[in-house]
Amino acid sequence: VCVTKELYFHGILSVHDIVAQKGYDPELPPLPDNIEEEDEDSVKIISLFKSQEPLGATIKRDESTGAIVVARIMRGGAADRSGLIHEGDELREVNGVQMEDKTPEEIIPIMAQSQGEVTFKVIPVPGIKEELSANETMLFVRSLFDYNPEEDPAIPCRQAGLGFKRGDILQIVNQEDDTWWQACRHGDSNSRAGLIPSRQLQERWASIDRCVTGISFPAAGLRRSFRLGRRGGRSGNVESKRKSQEMGGATQTPTYLEVAPYCRDHKEGRRLVLLVGPSGVGLSELKRRLLLSDPDHYGVTVPHTTREKRKQEKDGVEYHFVSRQTFEMDIVNHKFLEYGEHRGNYYGTSLESVHKVIGEDKVCLLDVQPNTVQRLHTTEFKPCVVFVKPPLIQELRFSRRKATLISTQDMTKLTKTFSEEDFEDMISSAEAMDSQYGHLFEMVVVNGDFAMAFNKLRAELEKLETEAPQWIPVEWTSHTKQNTESVC
Ligand code: 5GP
Repeated sequence: VCVTKELYFHGILSVHDIVAQKGYDPELPPLPDNIEEEDEDSVKIISLFKSQEPLGATIKRDESTGAIVVARIMRGGAADRSGLIHEGDELREVNGVQMEDKTPEEIIPIMAQSQGEVTFKVIPVPGIKEELSANETMLFVRSLFDYNPEEDPAIPCRQAGLGFKRGDILQIVNQEDDTWWQACRHGDSNSRAGLIPSRQLQERWASIDRCVTGISFPAAGLRRSFRLGRRGGRSGNVESKRKSQEMGGATQTPTYLEVAPYCRDHKEGRRLVLLVGPSGVGLSELKRRLLLSDPDHYGVTVPHTTREKRKQEKDGVEYHFVSRQTFEMDIVNHKFLEYGEHRGNYYGTSLESVHKVIGEDKVCLLDVQPNTVQRLHTTEFKPCVVFVKPPLIQELRFSRRKATLISTQDMTKLTKTFSEEDFEDMISSAEAMDSQYGHLFEMVVVNGDFAMAFNKLRAELEKLETEAPQWIPVEWTSHTKQNTESVC
């Protein structure tokens, strides 16, 4: 047995030695020896091994000198990884083809077609040391709008753009340009960054959009004329220090919300789930069905009321029955998240009732008015705000044709069938909520077909339990960091 073991280890070690001695880097061709004498000091010959992936750089014609220069290096691309090509380098030749008389549009296909060893002749921008790209910036944001570079006439290089949907998590890797940031989409296998509009640029477009009523963006001419200038120096640190509200919240322009990864510690309560949507969209029914689907996992609050207890009711089950005096004291002491009056009786949901459900290690489901969300939008509750919105009016008419509307907003329990006006109100109220509070919404569920909406909501809420990390506003994590450390 000993001999066999010895032979076995000997075999492993000799294979290791053979593999370790081999060079696996691609073999580059020798540098050309026909470099002109006078160029030797200033010209740099760079040989890169390029696969099918793009070089990861954009080029432009320098308006003052007419030279073709590298405009931008995309973080994580082949040029960036090489550390040899820099912004501002003048491009003279690619694989022996002179660039001088070519337009950027003619050069791009030459670059794209070249594969394997590609030789560049460049005049380096003065004062740049050859170095590999700096450490990755750890700035993550949730996008609060959809972006498609294919439809954006203002982007300096469409092919270099990164498209995304509202809710995607983006890692911002470069903010050197005030106008165009570089980002990767979290979870993408491609680590090469793409261009996205900076927060400032997106805010500017949104403010123009608000002013110029009747003109829908993108509108090429306008967008171009409002492009911001480049700013010297790095702005990454400044940006990452900005509060997340500034990245969309306070300005009410949906741009980017700074987020951080979060893994729940088993000692912490589960995240509160807030359901928000216009009256009649079906919040109560979604909540009721979720509770029925898994009563051990989901819980709802028990409200307080001053009305008389009915025969079949039990104190602490349907309601906490309290005196008017107690209720009014509780109002003064800010015990209620919200309250109202109906037929001479008070009704209200206390903060304590939320704590109670969370304390039972359940997911507390609460449907609230959007203005209550802000009160609960805290490190303690880390709420996942689900916006339930109506579908397009045609589907709304179809899906609600037999349904009845139960209005509780003015505390009058009113049951009637939906009218055309109710549909229009529901849609416009949803739009107003989205534009005012959209930056707080983590999930959006369209309630057209009820079964589909319910299944989507349940699946998304299950992800809250199973997916790690979750992405929460960065200010909710600072407190956690100081006291505990979570391993993801
Ligand atoms: P009831 O007395 O028939 O149980 O309920 C009367 C009304 O009070 C219903 O429309 C119900 O939706 C509303 N209600 C129940 N709990 C609360 C609560 O916590 N806050 C508010 N604002 N209304 C409530």
